[in-house]
Amino acid sequence: MVIVTAIFSILLLTLALLIIRTLRIRTYRRTQDISRTEKATEVIKEAPGHLSEAVRFASVAGEDAPFQGLLHYLQETYPLVHTQALEIPRKTYARVFRIEGSDTSLLPALLCAHLDVVPASEEGWEHPPFSGAIEGDYIWGRGSFDDKSSVIAILETFERILRARHQRRRTWYIALGSDEEVRGKDGGAFISSWFLEQKIRFAFVLDEGGAVAQGFIPQVRHDIAVIGLSEKASMTAKLSVEAAGGHSSTPSQPTSVGILARAIARIEQKRLKGNITYPVKKMLEALAIHSSFPFALIVGNPWLFRPLIISVFSSSPTMNALVRSTATVTMVQGAQASNIVPSRATAVVNIRALPGESTRHIEHSLRKIIADERVKIEMIHTGTASRVSPAEGEAFEHIARTIETVFPSAVPVPYLMSGASDALHYEKVSDYVYRFTPAVMNKGELDRMHSENERFSIENLHRAIEFYTHLVLRDS
Ligand SMILES: [Zn+2]
Repeated sequence: MVIVTAIFSILLLTLALLIIRTLRIRTYRRTQDISRTEKATEVIKEAPGHLSEAVRFASVAGEDAPFQGLLHYLQETYPLVHTQALEIPRKTYARVFRIEGSDTSLLPALLCAHLDVVPASEEGWEHPPFSGAIEGDYIWGRGSFDDKSSVIAILETFERILRARHQRRRTWYIALGSDEEVRGKDGGAFISSWFLEQKIRFAFVLDEGGAVAQGFIPQVRHDIAVIGLSEKASMTAKLSVEAAGGHSSTPSQPTSVGILARAIARIEQKRLKGNITYPVKKMLEALAIHSSFPFALIVGNPWLFRPLIISVFSSSPTMNALVRSTATVTMVQGAQASNIVPSRATAVVNIRALPGESTRHIEHSLRKIIADERVKIEMIHTGTASRVSPAEGEAFEHIARTIETVFPSAVPVPYLMSGASDALHYEKVSDYVYRFTPAVMNKGELDRMHSENERFSIENLHRAIEFYTHLVLRDS
């Protein structure tokens, strides 16, 4: 009887604690909603034409002429911003601008975007990838979204601010990378080291990243504006198996390919262990504020429902990437001819690791999952996840409040980015590095990035300009 009473009391206590915690998170919503201000709209007529022109230069990292053309075009189009350009002590197509404010006691802030794009073949496009066609409310082409939309929106914003002679207290820097899609050595990495050398530190850094996502999580009633606090590390492992080779007419089994195939199957079936890191914990808390009570009860209390949350998240590829390091085989190689049993078979595994999971940890986990000594595992490219910026404080609030002003139907939500960006380089010059692209996106639109038929809506371009304008003038 005593045991039953004890169990009952514990259950009752847990339930009370759950409800209290959930209610506490949700009362926070009231104070947040009040602070919203009216959306200001101002249409900039020339901006879509400017983005369209910028898309026409096929600025794939490593090319010269398209970059020269693009830089020349930007200089002609944004002459006032270009009077604020800084000379970079290196031959690069990256660009840095410094727009001085009146209060030098304030730390400056940095906006980043990149000029380079991933390559595109003509196949499968409704409009040729470098045509910059404007049709049906969209600017079409490679880079129209990633990331020339941000380049144009940022430059458009500052050109207008300078033209209107708006007084601002804070100094702003703009860094336009030239090789973000190929790890940013000559752009982001060089510029950040150069800032470090000059002892320039930033109140915060804002680079491309999350967007305003529509219908991302069905249980949440609002659009959510996801602000990246951190990005996962990109690593590459090589699996290799050696076994007897020979002619395929008299094979001995298992072959190197067979052993390798079993290892690959195990990686897909078993997956790396799930974990709720700080950015995702903060994301869940923010979602709990704006979802139905039963959903809030679960996501607002990861201390109790951790396994359930991880299992629910695991069912969708985008959500799964938030709660675990992912490992996926992207390249395989066996023999060079159809009638040879290869003595060696290899596979390349691309890994995106959660913050806090080191290369050694990942290697160890893969070894455990594969559990076959015949498979040699070698980490051929190691990487570290970025540091994690806080989901509170002046810089985060500044970005979140600007989002609420420009996107009144969206709720700012912290998150963990699974892709890589130049932002990673800038963490040595700021403790507050955030990743957010000011655009409303549904899944269909996001899927076009790095793929065919990339496009950016005229409405989004206007919103982006409005966002950067509010961001800059907010603390003037
Ligand atoms: Zn990008």
